[in-house]
Amino acid sequence: MTAVPRFAALDAPARWRTVDFISDLHLKAEEPDTFEAWASYLRHVPADAVFILGDLFEAWVGDDCAVPGSFEHRCAQVLHAASTTAELFFMHGNRDFLLGPDFLAHCGMRELADPTVLGFEGRRYLLTHGDLLCTDDLDYQRFRQQVRTEDWQRAFLARPLAERQAAARQMRAQSEQHQAAQGVYADVDAELARSWLVAASATTLIHGHTHRPGDHVLGQDASGQRLVRRVLSDWHVTADEQRAQVLRLSADGLQRLAPEPRA
Ligand code: MN
Repeated sequence: MTAVPRFAALDAPARWRTVDFISDLHLKAEEPDTFEAWASYLRHVPADAVFILGDLFEAWVGDDCAVPGSFEHRCAQVLHAASTTAELFFMHGNRDFLLGPDFLAHCGMRELADPTVLGFEGRRYLLTHGDLLCTDDLDYQRFRQQVRTEDWQRAFLARPLAERQAAARQMRAQSEQHQAAQGVYADVDAELARSWLVAASATTLIHGHTHRPGDHVLGQDASGQRLVRRVLSDWHVTADEQRAQVLRLSADGLQRLAPEPRA
């Protein structure tokens, strides 16, 4: 059993009425319709705060990729404009764990530790990207441990940009091979998720990563409160598909807002 991590804490200011959660947009220049759907959502965002729970980008090899004219720079402009009307929070995912303080500042986003407990209207919501809870994939957990160390990141970021981009492509190919060999994508360990909720004194876990949007009941805590796991959807918008879901929190609770995928 993996040890329960340290939970960061964030209390929503009383002025917040609505908080949005999104994740796994996997933004890339090659998928312009997904970028447009996301940019249009952020241009008219009615929420007081937007929490991006990881994998905003398909890949991130260092903040120096976001030069003027680049796709990443266009994304930064969208985020910066949105940050003037909503507070933006960013949690690292397994694809964009190298996104750094320079880019965050440039976008007007605040970094959110993984995991973090959000206090809102007297309730506690446990937020995580989700990869830490997929403990069945031992190879991935070992890889994660390695690449999340300061030493590894310093050494990687010191390499020339083109070399880092090539390395990222190689890692991606390896990970796809690994997943194909496993035959099944790792999912969140329900028992571990439950123990995190209990340790964090929270009743609702919100995460992405698995690309399996859905709501799961994880039993009850000692006081009989229902424990639930809310899985965010990934975003993928093309002529045939429209996955672009937002999980919205207000005084009424949590609500999914999205065009349903076309049949
Ligand atoms: Mn992920």
